[in-house]
Amino acid sequence: MRVLGIETSCDETGVALFDTERGLLADALYSQVAMHAEYGGVVPELASRDHTRRLLPLIQQVLDEADLGRHGLDAIAYTAGPGLVGALMVGAATAHGMARALGIPVLGVHHMEGHLLAPMLEQDRPEFPFVALLVSGGHTQLVEVRALGRYTLLGESVDDAAGEAFDKAAKMLGLDYPGGPQVARLAEHGDPGRLRFPRPMTDRPGLDFSFSGLKTHTLTAIRTLEAEGALDDQARADVARAFEEAVVDTLVIKCRRALDQTGLKRLVVAGGVSANTRLRERLERECARRAARAYYPRGRFCTDNGAMIAYVGAQRLLAGERDEQGVMKAVPRWPMDTLRQP
Ligand code: ATP
Ligand code: MG
Ligand code: FE
Repeated sequence: MRVLGIETSCDETGVALFDTERGLLADALYSQVAMHAEYGGVVPELASRDHTRRLLPLIQQVLDEADLGRHGLDAIAYTAGPGLVGALMVGAATAHGMARALGIPVLGVHHMEGHLLAPMLEQDRPEFPFVALLVSGGHTQLVEVRALGRYTLLGESVDDAAGEAFDKAAKMLGLDYPGGPQVARLAEHGDPGRLRFPRPMTDRPGLDFSFSGLKTHTLTAIRTLEAEGALDDQARADVARAFEEAVVDTLVIKCRRALDQTGLKRLVVAGGVSANTRLRERLERECARRAARAYYPRGRFCTDNGAMIAYVGAQRLLAGERDEQGVMKAVPRWPMDTLRQP
């Protein structure tokens, strides 16, 4: 089954073609990051309009790349949520319109299920069951995954997501949006011994996270250095390093607990923050110590992309799931543990 995947939940337009027999045939991405950078964050109305402009040319591009006509498609999957409602509507309406015209099934899928299963697009893919750490711009969750659609939420952030914290720290350090990769780059030059930030919610049992306090801590550190007249490039790098160490350490501690609690030996890490090198290094070490293994998506499938949507859509479409004709879905808030096994 050849499935076209469409992702428009936020600020990237992603399109891909996944063949359940041959694997990924093509994928293309247009990032709106430069457009939103000017405003320091995503402007929803601009995002929807830009998806409208980019989506059809990207669909044509992946069809050309796969040397396939529209009539070679067997089904279409799109991100139905969670995300920005206007942005979601662009993908949903396009998917439903095309599916209607071509007389093929269409299915709205969950964006976070896409992130969760993105490592399945790799050669070295995890088998079920596994623990998943989902760390993105909008989510920080630990999930026990038994099978496609069998998810138990083990813990999540009670306030900011880890990616959001990275973005806010970046802003305070005068770096551009999205800040995660830039904070990571700056942190490389930082002295790990100069400042130490707290590891929130690690001193008590449980698998929930909280990152908003770290934001305040970062701001206080910057202001203190500023007041001392010591906020030079090295000091900014030291703040970035202390911040990154604190986030990474917190994530690693909770992953360790989740593996202990479930007794599982496989850990999947996905979502934008899973691109972070220090996080990967630390998790590798942690897994090696307990004869466990960590799995990640390749770099460009850590953040938003069409391939993960095509993949998840294909699994569910194969199992017979589809939207009712003409009933397009755009669900801005959609808890992942309401998903079911097809
Ligand atoms: P969600 O998937 O929760 O709806 P989103 O789609 O905006 O949110 P993603 O595209 O998965 O999130 O990831 C983007 C986030 O990942 C941003 O917050 C960005 O700063 C962060 N990020 C990307 N690369 C890195 C990195 N190397 N280190 C830390 N954070 C990173
Ligand atoms: Mg994004
Ligand atoms: Fe995402």
